[in-house]
Amino acid sequence: MTHNDYLKPAGQAAFHDSGVTKFQDVVRAWKGEELTGFGLLGVPLSKPSISHSGASFAPAVMRSILLNTATYAIEDDVDLKDLDLVDLGDILMHVTDLAASQTRIEETLDAILKENPNFIPVILGGDHSISSSTIKAFGKAKGRIGVIQFDAHHDLRNLQDGGPSNGTPFRNLIESGSLDPTNLVQIGIRNFSNSQTYSHYAKDNGVKVMTMREVKQQGMLAAVKEAYGQLKENVDAIYLSVDIDVLDQAFAPGCPAIGPGGMTSEALLEGVSYLGGQELIKAIDVVEIDPKQDFRDMTSKVGVFTILSFLTGKMLADRRRTV
Ligand code: CA
Repeated sequence: MTHNDYLKPAGQAAFHDSGVTKFQDVVRAWKGEELTGFGLLGVPLSKPSISHSGASFAPAVMRSILLNTATYAIEDDVDLKDLDLVDLGDILMHVTDLAASQTRIEETLDAILKENPNFIPVILGGDHSISSSTIKAFGKAKGRIGVIQFDAHHDLRNLQDGGPSNGTPFRNLIESGSLDPTNLVQIGIRNFSNSQTYSHYAKDNGVKVMTMREVKQQGMLAAVKEAYGQLKENVDAIYLSVDIDVLDQAFAPGCPAIGPGGMTSEALLEGVSYLGGQELIKAIDVVEIDPKQDFRDMTSKVGVFTILSFLTGKMLADRRRTV
């Protein structure tokens, strides 16, 4: 061997093991071909946040972690290396015009979903304000839709006082007629995080609310089965929206509105994996991760594992269908 054998090209991993498959070997950049599987779509918008947020940095950080993660899920004995998984890149945000950014999100996803009816988007937020735009596009493409929302908060603030922020996405969807409130299920809503006004709004409008205590008492699997069961007869497709602040603050230091009393990351992954395996669940977003406040990328990693649990659920469902 000469000294040249030890030189690695810049940008390549310092150590290579030919027996390991990582997502960097699986994910391919989208070049405009028909989309039939899954695709990462970054939405780097967090300026509409009520509190300071660097969630616009999360798509890049989550992508980087994902690409360096191994594809094999030993607990389920599935290897995600066989997934049809593309990266569509990020939607370009307007520098100052929030309404223009929200329109870009809706129009971009609307065009993608209408041209690719079987495509399942995996949306990397951004703060929770993005979900009003992505779910409007989802509804236009899919018809009657339901939403399952993991969140500490209702996100049902009125739009008059602060405009379309990360506190209003589901109120926005209801008031714009984009979502029937009886087809919205909120999982993990907890104490000292919501005003009674908005709990009343949820109740008065028929939103199904499963508080954190109720989720703990019945167990995650029973909770998500109930949530899916409530929606499946009434809708054509379901959008899964995961606000990482549904977690206890012990699991998610890099999240602007985090607090105690939330769920474990293990419970979240279990619930998302189950829902990923259900036929009508046809989109997921993961929002409210702020890498600038994070510690050792803990929160971004939970975000990535949430996505991987969703995809594992889909692969397990495929395996059940083909056996
Ligand atoms: Ca939220």
